[in-house]
Amino acid sequence: LLVMGIETSCDETAVSIVRNGREIVSNIVASQIDSHKRFGGVVPEIASRHHVEQITIVLEEALKEAKVSYEDIDAIAVTQGPGLVGALLIGVNAAKAVAFAHGIPLVSVHHIAGHIYANRLITEMSFPLLSLVVSGGHTELVYMKEHGHFEVIGETRDDAAGEAYDKVARTLHLPYPGGPQIDRLAHEGEAVIDLPRAWLEDGSYDFSFSGLKSAVINTVHNAEQRGETIKPEDLAASFQASVIDVLVTKTVRAAKEYGIKQVLLAGGVAANKGLRSVLTAAFNELEDIELVIPPLKLCTDNAAMIAAAGSVMFEKGQRAGLALNANPGLDISIHNYV
Ligand code: ATP
Ligand code: MG
Ligand code: FE
Repeated sequence: LLVMGIETSCDETAVSIVRNGREIVSNIVASQIDSHKRFGGVVPEIASRHHVEQITIVLEEALKEAKVSYEDIDAIAVTQGPGLVGALLIGVNAAKAVAFAHGIPLVSVHHIAGHIYANRLITEMSFPLLSLVVSGGHTELVYMKEHGHFEVIGETRDDAAGEAYDKVARTLHLPYPGGPQIDRLAHEGEAVIDLPRAWLEDGSYDFSFSGLKSAVINTVHNAEQRGETIKPEDLAASFQASVIDVLVTKTVRAAKEYGIKQVLLAGGVAANKGLRSVLTAAFNELEDIELVIPPLKLCTDNAAMIAAAGSVMFEKGQRAGLALNANPGLDISIHNYV
């Protein structure tokens, strides 16, 4: 089974070909980070324009690197949402054009299902599993009892973890994207500044990062007003410690409560060195639960993860028609009925 994945939900134009849902044959990612950097974040109009310019080139490159042609492809899997509507549309329309022109079945994929399935490119999934999804737009705990079944048991009530990282980085005058910058700085400092941890109600698996973000901003402003200096590396370390503490504690608690066999880390913030090491240490203590962490290249947006998720949906019989439309607010439960 050879599936082509297409991903254009944000600022990466990506096409990949995956064999049998597990093996990457080619994986091309054209990043636009340099074009958005001077604006301090992703500018939707610029993102769409770049996708238009790049998509044909990236499609051809993915075929060339895999040494296959469209005749060899069994299905096209495309990110239908969530994401920026103008960006999603480029990928969806490219997928429909290729599917129609070559008579290839089309499968729609939820972007977060893709992030979770990035893990299947490393190891087989064992159920029931729990995925900690931490990305630019999402922070959630997703329970899966089988392939293609997704149940969100907790999610952020305000900012996503990646969003908080990017905003804190901006306060510290660090370039976009801020996550990797804060991560690097955090390792040079010490978590000596007292910052809040949003545990929310007893037993809740929801998250909240806006209070923490505001506390960081207030700490910086108060220090400026008093003429004091705060070491940015200490602030980064303290912020990162707070984020990781809540993420890891809730993940461990949920994994125990739900009798989980495997925990999968997913999303762009999964690239965070601090999170990877604290999570690894926590699950080393729990012998019955396997922790899977994708390599850095599969944490941030890519199309191999979309092809991996799409392969499973295709085998379950899901087919998207040529009337498929981008949906910026797509719910992950679309996959639950296939
Ligand atoms: P979503 O997947 O929710 O639609 P997205 O696709 O924009 O959002 P991703 O590409 O999955 O998000 O992840 C990007 C986010 O990951 C950014 O917020 C970025 O700062 C963050 N990030 C990347 N590397 C690190 C790191 N080492 N530490 C913390 N955050 C990181
Ligand atoms: Mg991105
Ligand atoms: Fe993403």
